Amino acid sequence: MAGLTVEIYDTTLRDGAQQEGMNLSVADKMAIAALLDELGVGVIEGGWPGAVPKDTDFFSLVAKELTFKNAQFAAFGMTRRAGTSAGSDPQVRALLDSEAPIITLVAKSDVRHVERALRVSGDENLAMISETVAFLVGEGHRVLLDAEHFFDGYRYDCEYAVRALLAGAEAGASTLVLCDTNGGMLPDEVDRIVTEVAARTTTTLGIHAHNDSGCAVANSMAAVAAGALHVQGCVNGYGERTGNADLIAVAANLELKRGAIALKSGGLRESTRLSHAISEITNIAPFPRQPYVGASAFAHKAGLHASAIKVDPDLYQHTDPAGVGNDMRMLVSEMAGRASIELKGKELGFDLAGQGELLTRVTERVKNAEAQGYTFDAADASFELLLRSELGEAPRYWTVENWAVNVASTPGDPKNANAEAVVKLRAGGEQRILTVGEGNGPVNALDHALRQAVSTVYPEIGRFDLVDFKVRIMDASHGTDAVTRVLITTVDTETGRSWRTVGVGPNVIEASWEALTDALFYGLLKADVVPIP
Ligand SMILES: [Zn+2]
Repeated sequence: MAGLTVEIYDTTLRDGAQQEGMNLSVADKMAIAALLDELGVGVIEGGWPGAVPKDTDFFSLVAKELTFKNAQFAAFGMTRRAGTSAGSDPQVRALLDSEAPIITLVAKSDVRHVERALRVSGDENLAMISETVAFLVGEGHRVLLDAEHFFDGYRYDCEYAVRALLAGAEAGASTLVLCDTNGGMLPDEVDRIVTEVAARTTTTLGIHAHNDSGCAVANSMAAVAAGALHVQGCVNGYGERTGNADLIAVAANLELKRGAIALKSGGLRESTRLSHAISEITNIAPFPRQPYVGASAFAHKAGLHASAIKVDPDLYQHTDPAGVGNDMRMLVSEMAGRASIELKGKELGFDLAGQGELLTRVTERVKNAEAQGYTFDAADASFELLLRSELGEAPRYWTVENWAVNVASTPGDPKNANAEAVVKLRAGGEQRILTVGEGNGPVNALDHALRQAVSTVYPEIGRFDLVDFKVRIMDASHGTDAVTRVLITTVDTETGRSWRTVGVGPNVIEASWEALTDALFYGLLKADVVPIP
């Protein structure tokens, strides 16, 4: 496998989003797509335009606003309906309208599904595959064929399953993706079936594995060993039921264990950070025991082996954690080693190399903050403000004296609930400013009062829109009370720049206040506004 290039195809935005409890807005999808591109996957599947209205919006937004550095963009859809022509099927036309260069067509390859679920004849299904593929190839698209239930279908009627694949191949599909849709396969069966299929076609084969037997990554590896050159899955193993193959583990196995080429531009070394940044957007807590990138992936309990680990860590870990941007941990502390702080600083434009004492101070602050519930993986803006305060370069646009919020509600009439916030601060040459803001909730009222207070001194604030607000209650641990973490995304409507800030507090109001203040400070800083405290 050394030197072999394997195409990594991410379907987080469609298959992954089927996960219980995951609900992605169009803005979330935009943010995740940008992070996946940074990770270096070859293809990002955006969803199902024409079938899901939110996906249609997402595709038109991507066409207008996103330029990928590494990835190509794919739309997912079905073969034409029975008894129509591909060119007149509105669902097929929506795929063309999406402007995605790659189109992934899902097709039935298990004859039982063809007859019982689709209720068409086996031959009509083959015609649906070949005509739809040929039509889209003729329109200039690269077309992948996702053969749904392929492995189960192959075990039941291998000839029909292969005919479905060949129908796609002969019509011009670039890649035939064998799907273990029910996720029950084991690696030895995948190896056997992929080997048999590879003997029947010269078209590139791919694998799409679900994790129901706990083998999604192993099955993906087995398929590649048997000749597949394309792996579909989801970052962090997202997906319905037990999830899809975790693409980070697949890519790490391919690159670090087999010398293959999977992610572009050294993405693997950034995968821990990017994995966590994506989980902040999906709002699904990162899985600490996730292979390679989990917080516990290289965490060693101090004890018998502690000193030996220090002498030669290689004896106690399967690979160098730096290869995936993770750190070995010896103690029960949160993440953040000096190396990752240095790296993150560099990314934000601060050269911290050789500044040992400063790095130690920043690392300590980050560790303490993370122990309290902060996360900087997805809140670069808050991290930059923290770093600047250690460098003595923190901007101070105003000084808050105090604030208060009052919420009034009439029982039985929740619509009548309203909140009022009072903010007292100094800005614009030590002027004392007092404002009152109203809102439909306490955070909204505080936001209004704060903006009103500072907008005469800093009119630029009017350009900053709060576009996303996420709240997570952090579990109580180490005998402390639960705390609330708020993550805010703000956008400068004039420049299009967006940034995320984090706040932590005993309640949602305290946490929001901190994240809001950081958001406005950072926005002013990046708009080159000079502080007049
Ligand atoms: Zn799937």
